[in-house]
Amino acid sequence: MTATPPFDRLALIGVGLIGSSIAHGVRRHGLARTIVATARTPATRKRVVELHLADEVVDSNVQAVKDADLVIVCIPVGACGAVAQEIGPHLKAGAIVSDAGSVKSAVVRDMAPHLPAHAYFVPAHPVAGTEHSGPDSGFAELFINRWCILTPPPGTDPKAVERLAAFWRALGANVETMTPEHHDLVLAITSHVPHLIAYTIVGTADELGDVTESEVLQFSAGGFRDFTRIAASDPTMWRDVFLANKDAVLEMLGAFQEDLSKLTRAIRRGDGEALFDHFTRTRAIRRGIVSIGQDSAAPDFGRPHASLPQTPMPRPYADSDD
Ligand code: NAP
Repeated sequence: MTATPPFDRLALIGVGLIGSSIAHGVRRHGLARTIVATARTPATRKRVVELHLADEVVDSNVQAVKDADLVIVCIPVGACGAVAQEIGPHLKAGAIVSDAGSVKSAVVRDMAPHLPAHAYFVPAHPVAGTEHSGPDSGFAELFINRWCILTPPPGTDPKAVERLAAFWRALGANVETMTPEHHDLVLAITSHVPHLIAYTIVGTADELGDVTESEVLQFSAGGFRDFTRIAASDPTMWRDVFLANKDAVLEMLGAFQEDLSKLTRAIRRGDGEALFDHFTRTRAIRRGIVSIGQDSAAPDFGRPHASLPQTPMPRPYADSDD
């Protein structure tokens, strides 16, 4: 807990997985004197009150941003423009406005025109998530040792960028800055296309229907089980991600389809050497991810194991939402 909170009044617009995790982390580390929150529906606002996630829960976005020195919009990317238009005229001078969206170019395009010159716009994407959503799903540890990518428009006051970077570092994240376009390309291959593959393969298995029926569930070991977890991610959020990051996703899907064709050909021709070489290369990538601390080398049993301690919280995964 820091002695003087770095922010006086934090406004959270949207309290789902990301908003509630920020609220937990801000509380734990004393990053704001007051947390004011709002959500779209009365049911979510009621739940935020019950969970004591904020000091004040208000009914509108305009009420939420009043006097706030940090505003974080934690809602599906397709809704960010309309919210920026609503709150723009009510932002306090010097306020930092940020978001958590998994796509950045579209969010910058939709939000920036509505924000006044007296506020600082510093878009952000915490590359951390689980397949759960809603205010009950958050936990303070979500961002620890994950990346938070900031994409400030050119000319943004570096002090505002640094204040937000320090905020995310205090929540446990490593901070990187890049352009929105570069962010969207990187995330297309590391998060968005993998989600699309998961959504596809789980749907394909489902369509096999009576061939497999209960066998799909019964033998859902290893790869398929992981795909089902990713494919359980929030449909609204992911619909918006694919609509908003269309160009980068299509570019990466093109490259993916070419590589899939190469592997398909190797299988058809019985080219074991090509398969072995490919799998050796990908194994090295996995080891690289473990060596930089982005995942554990521990075997993933995927089920409670009698001799292993139970983890009390959901297993976070880097944004696969992600
Ligand atoms: P979530 O758990 O589904 O929560 C979404 C929140 O947004 C809820 O409070 C919801 O309010 C509100 N909302 C939904 N539609 C809205 C609209 N049209 N206008 C205003 N508010 C609306 O979502 P989340 O996982 O926290 O994701 C929030 C943002 O973080 C998204 O932009 C997402 O891309 C990004 N993100 C997600 C992850 C992840 O793994 N989930 C990771 C990194 C970044 P109600 O409950 O009242 O409907």
